Amino acid sequence: MERVYIGLGSNLASPAQQLRSALAAMAGLPHTQLVAQSSLYASDPLGPPDQPRYVNAVAALDTELTPLALLDALQRIELEQGRVRKDERWGPRTLDLDILLFADRQIDEPRLQVPHYHMHARAFVLYPLAEIAAELVLPDGRPLSQLLAQCPYVGLERLATQA
Ligand code: ATP
Ligand code: MG
Ligand code: MG
Repeated sequence: MERVYIGLGSNLASPAQQLRSALAAMAGLPHTQLVAQSSLYASDPLGPPDQPRYVNAVAALDTELTPLALLDALQRIELEQGRVRKDERWGPRTLDLDILLFADRQIDEPRLQVPHYHMHARAFVLYPLAEIAAELVLPDGRPLSQLLAQCPYVGLERLATQA
């Protein structure tokens, strides 16, 4: 089993419900257990500003799947929950499931880069991640606490509703 962290996001079609469905779907993946989930957070969108705010969360999985098999499974869940891939980058979507970390692996393949290339700069990733893995250290040796200290809590709001 390897410990994996997944970033979840949605800003269309009942975002909190999208995240709940995605958590259930991930918990049901073969050779995989859902071991922790953060609170839900509302966040300002990246990219085009004329779109609804996002709901975000981070989940921890233990899995025996390979990284690419897990990516396939996550992309299947995105499609099952109605994600339409458009040309516009960072446009609105029903569900985004990103692999943030895959144990201590550093992966650089055409379809998959891990750690996620932009996680260090995203408050909506780092703060939920810290809720479930405060002591985490990235594969390059940087502690999560150091990334948090360099990423202000801006545009983010912890929601009272539970996932
Ligand atoms: P961002 O990656 O900036 O958060 P995004 O999540 O909206 O943007 P997507 O459209 O979901 O981007 O994914 C584009 C491609 O990114 C996917 O087809 C996938 O192959 C690739 N990808 C590379 N690294 C990862 C990763 N760590 N997790 C998920 N997808 C990844
Ligand atoms: Mg993303
Ligand atoms: Mg994505």
